[in-house]
Amino acid sequence: MDARAEPLIDPWGRPVEYLRLSVTDRCDLRCVYCMGEATEFIPRSEILSLEEVAAVAQAFVELGVRKVRITGGEPLVRRGVVGLMERLGAVPGLEELVVTTNGAQLAGHAHALRAAGVRRLNISLDSLDAERFRRITRTGRLARVLEGIEVARSAGFERIRLNCIAMRGRNDDEIERLVAYAVERGLDIGFIEEMPFGTVEGHDRGEAYMASAEVRARVEAAYRLVEAEPRPAAGPSRDYRVAGWDTRVGFISPHSGCFCASCNRVRVTAEGLLLPCLGREQATDLRAALWAGPPEAASARLRDAIRDGIRAKPAHHELDDQALGQSQVVRFMSATGG
Ligand code: SAM
Ligand code: SF4
Repeated sequence: MDARAEPLIDPWGRPVEYLRLSVTDRCDLRCVYCMGEATEFIPRSEILSLEEVAAVAQAFVELGVRKVRITGGEPLVRRGVVGLMERLGAVPGLEELVVTTNGAQLAGHAHALRAAGVRRLNISLDSLDAERFRRITRTGRLARVLEGIEVARSAGFERIRLNCIAMRGRNDDEIERLVAYAVERGLDIGFIEEMPFGTVEGHDRGEAYMASAEVRARVEAAYRLVEAEPRPAAGPSRDYRVAGWDTRVGFISPHSGCFCASCNRVRVTAEGLLLPCLGREQATDLRAALWAGPPEAASARLRDAIRDGIRAKPAHHELDDQALGQSQVVRFMSATGG
């Protein structure tokens, strides 16, 4: 039977249509909420080769996944990533190939990504103040990211969305300014509630936490928001349109608005672990499945392992909203594939 005939449905009846695929846990920034200052990276020998990454993506698409997001760590630090995109861009049945990047190396890659078939980009941007941007990312240069955004705008992506972690006392006074920046350029912007992944030093998650309702109220003090149509295979973002402008503002609320009931996604880490739920530790080793028998049966083994992993998808995460300041999942976001 054609593998496509049986789409991926988890035990709770949710179709899985969306894969977030990490190509590296390394990064050229060190955002305070995402990783420690001296985070150890996975040895290169344990990272999936680009061949293996392509095989994993292909197997998911054969099982009905329509949207793949390439992420990391920072995907643009992985050598050969544009070639991987070209390959994935040609996979029949893959309707949406998208990338999440910190933008630091985007100026040199944006046109090639677009030519490879990447239609939409997410770019993380937490501040428009250079000194503050450096503090949040520990090492980053804002000017490079802004240049990357401008080059991406000229490269003809269908949509570009900025992603911002709203943090009390760190960048919450810039919420309106960030929306204005997006509105003036015809970009979308999403505000994300911070999640407790990995033990970070020098950053108090509990103190910085801001619920989406408060962030939205800040945006609405300056702009009128109207409910937006959801996109196909959309993520958990609750999206609004800025009245009179070509900009959507989204709110991703893993704490204040649990969206597990409509979860349509899974993640694969850079070393090939299928994580059925972001907020749990359990994983299925797809790399082991790839190499567990004769090469000619590798795709079938991969598909079986993916089905096993989806069978283990829990109904909901177990993040405790009363313990926002404590790490609740051992992995850093950079190692999870954000
Ligand atoms: N390096 C790329 C970037 O920054 O866009 C892609 C990987 S990053 C892990 C993906 C997204 O995860 C970013 O938008 C980042 O802000 C978000 N992120 C990182 N740590 C997070 C946390 N603890 N809680 C919520 N979002 C987080
Ligand atoms: Fe790197 Fe992205 Fe994590 Fe920042 S959020 S440290 S850019 S992986």
